[in-house]
Amino acid sequence: MLRPVLTLARRLGLRAGRCAVCGAVRDTSGQGGGRPLCAACAEALPLRTGGLCPACGEMSGREEDPPSLCPECRADPPPWDELYFHGQYAGVMRRLILGYKFHNRFERNRLLGALGVSAFAARSGRVPDAVVPVPLHDRRLVWRGFNQSLEIARALARHADRPLLVHGLTRTRNTPPQTRFGLRERQANIKGAFTADPALVKDRRLLLVDDVYTTGSTLRECARTLKRAGCAGVDVLVLARTVLE
Ligand SMILES: [Zn+2]
Ligand SMILES: [Zn+2]
Repeated sequence: MLRPVLTLARRLGLRAGRCAVCGAVRDTSGQGGGRPLCAACAEALPLRTGGLCPACGEMSGREEDPPSLCPECRADPPPWDELYFHGQYAGVMRRLILGYKFHNRFERNRLLGALGVSAFAARSGRVPDAVVPVPLHDRRLVWRGFNQSLEIARALARHADRPLLVHGLTRTRNTPPQTRFGLRERQANIKGAFTADPALVKDRRLLLVDDVYTTGSTLRECARTLKRAGCAGVDVLVLARTVLE
């Protein structure tokens, strides 16, 4: 499943002479000349398409098994239909998402976008009416300088040729980072933190985009908020999914 990633990344214009992950100088002569990643890093970003729950992404089966709903999602379905993701939040993927010193932000955004698009395309993602990123609070946006989810959403909107609703969701209050909390605290921390603009989302089928799925608390709250605003349905795309022990 290496080829779709490389092809898409190339199509999105990733051509710099260094690997976008490890900074190694790539051999730009010959066949793989346009590739954004060195062979080792590309191999370390496998695309997961089987042995998973299509709703929450739990990877309990063998890679070659078809997707099937896990018992938790059967008993208590999430407020979206499909969850698309590229692979596990570990190793190269984790380093890429956390930011890497060897390449500039623009190039990383392109690569993250390409990985998101390849995850969507590999599962034959349902084309939405519009794409909505999970927003950052203004204060955190100023501190970080950009919203990774927005950059991934931008690539998906371009790929699907559908509008990107930058203000479909708004964060109404700043919340402490979710990483500080356990599952139950995360749900309480994020509750009521978003509003959706009905003028933008009503009656539309949406693709909600974030960078990482950890417990799904933030995505659940976002999807519920969009549904309350009258959207026609939600699918979710993230780059990576945490594997909980
Ligand atoms: Zn590399
Ligand atoms: Zn599940």
